[in-house]
Amino acid sequence: MKILVLPGDGIGPEITAEAVRVLKALDLSFEMEEALLGGCAVDATGDPYPEATRKLAREADAVLLGAVGGPQWDSHPREQRPERGLLGIRKDLGLFANLRPAVLYPELANASTLKPEVVAGLDILIVRELTGDIYFGQPRGIEVRNGERVGFNTMIYAESEIRRIARVAFEAARKRNRKVCSVDKMNVLECTQLWRDVVTETARDYPDVELSHMLVDNAAMQLVRNPKQFDVVVTGNMFGDILSDEASMLTGSIGMLPSASLDEKNKGLYEPCHGSAPDIAGKGVANPLATILSAAMMLRYTFNDEAAATRIENAVKKVLAQGFRTGDIFEPGMKKVGTREMGDAVLAAL
Ligand code: NAD
Repeated sequence: MKILVLPGDGIGPEITAEAVRVLKALDLSFEMEEALLGGCAVDATGDPYPEATRKLAREADAVLLGAVGGPQWDSHPREQRPERGLLGIRKDLGLFANLRPAVLYPELANASTLKPEVVAGLDILIVRELTGDIYFGQPRGIEVRNGERVGFNTMIYAESEIRRIARVAFEAARKRNRKVCSVDKMNVLECTQLWRDVVTETARDYPDVELSHMLVDNAAMQLVRNPKQFDVVVTGNMFGDILSDEASMLTGSIGMLPSASLDEKNKGLYEPCHGSAPDIAGKGVANPLATILSAAMMLRYTFNDEAAATRIENAVKKVLAQGFRTGDIFEPGMKKVGTREMGDAVLAAL
């Protein structure tokens, strides 16, 4: 099992160091290498996704990423911006499926802006298609027609693209509560009528998973009305962009949210949903739990090791129950700890 670790910028090195310690404590046989991505890569090589990183990323089974970016690179030319490195690696590795769990641990129910009884114990997974849809469809542009400017984009999905993301959702549901809700807008958009048809056809291969369909406007409403009705939600790139942010905000704590982006063979890039937090970088106060939980996703989805993934997740639940909190999730009465101490607590719980 080959893992490439890309600490990146800002708090990236601090939080990935804790996730690496947790992975090493599991006594599994990994080969781990580290490489540069983002602003640190620009500084060292002039390229946010250098050739040496590309080579290692292609050879690895999984990539663990901290975060990239920071104000010192904001004025660089576009091809030397840290985000280019992130888009570059996602494209290079063909990562078409984005998995974002939104889990609200009962101990953190007060962090959400919704009532605790609506969100406590929330555990849903948004599966978003990442490489198609209206974000990439041609033709697109702004042009003058009949004397005025018009803007246009094309919503397009091939059935093979829909089938492969549907499979990811059904497979993920098999590792959870075996329910998939597919979100579309089939009442107005033909493209999403095809989406619904192909997801329904694909479901025949997964008789053990319950499939339902929901229109996207209703899904946006249901996510805040009664989010616990969902298990896995699968949707296209644009609807997924919006709904995954909505779902992650149900939890209210950005330092807790992991993510995975997968290719057709379950090779994956695993990273926290948050950015490089330049405001707290180098202070040893960042919350490493989203990155540690991303490592758990890596074990589950790339290495198919459900037991090890659950061990990490249970250790995280335990440290929360014990009252350990970094600044971002701190409440009076709890034990305030820094990045390293939070890592120590997770290791002790393991
Ligand atoms: P951010 O997520 O980095 O920070 C937003 C706020 O949340 C900040 O106050 C930060 O201190 C806090 N925060 C974030 N993660 C935290 C953690 N683990 N523990 C404690 N507090 C945490 O978003 P931003 O400030 O908009 O962006 C900062 C930089 O990160 C920018 O350069 C941006 O481009 C980049 N960024 C990178 C990624 C990525 O690498 N995937 C994603 C988003 C933003």
